[in-house]
Amino acid sequence: MLRLQQLAAGYGNIKALKNIDLTVPAGSIVSLIGANGAGKTTVMKVIMGLIKPESGQILFKGQNISGAATHKIVSLGLSLVPEGRSILSRMTVLENLEMGACQRNDNEVQADLQRIFQRFPILEERKSQLGGTLSGGQQQMLAIGRALMSRPELLLLDEPSMGLAPLVVADIFKVIQEINQEGTTVLLVEQNVRQALKIAKYAYVLETGRISLHGQAVDIAKDSRVMEAYLGGK
Ligand code: ATP
Repeated sequence: MLRLQQLAAGYGNIKALKNIDLTVPAGSIVSLIGANGAGKTTVMKVIMGLIKPESGQILFKGQNISGAATHKIVSLGLSLVPEGRSILSRMTVLENLEMGACQRNDNEVQADLQRIFQRFPILEERKSQLGGTLSGGQQQMLAIGRALMSRPELLLLDEPSMGLAPLVVADIFKVIQEINQEGTTVLLVEQNVRQALKIAKYAYVLETGRISLHGQAVDIAKDSRVMEAYLGGK
């Protein structure tokens, strides 16, 4: 569904990504792991058109989207849940969700909203509250719900478990699996490497802007280098 070919991107003189090749097959969960500053967020931003690539290609369903405008990329079927969630704290929960559908002009937005409320009943209970009054876990649910409101075929999640209590983290990973089982392809950036490898089919390890390792997630989880660097050596 998504293929990055020899993709390079950066910030001025900082070469954050150096010729990345990465494939996300339709229907799968692919996890991208790596240390702080490895370039994971940059991968997400460049896919979404928030940073222009320096070279290489981004193919989404065979179409080259590299350098396209973000709204165009969203309308093609990609959506990002950004690092830090970016909830609009002075808007209500309902308004935040409606923002996710702002580019749609079909008549199924209300039905999708009801589906989001079924998945996350707490968001329906709190729909009139300001986004900023929600707990961290609820804000993450809201960020995921907002992204789903654009009806993505490919959902990009940047560190969804960051800063959340273990029980809430377990909920978030369960939700990601459910969304995937219902047909949405997922590219997941995570520091919670153990969980990210558990739910993924394929995994990529990013080190200072290069892919150092990739393969089936079960194999990556057994790799001694990964165990030592990201799984506490166990
Ligand atoms: P983290 O887990 O800390 O978010 P990451 O793997 O997502 O890390 P990136 O945020 O993609 O890493 O950063 C990759 C590199 O690009 C780092 O060296 C970082 O310092 C640099 N970088 C990121 N954003 C900018 C920016 N806006 N301007 C300049 N350099 C940046």
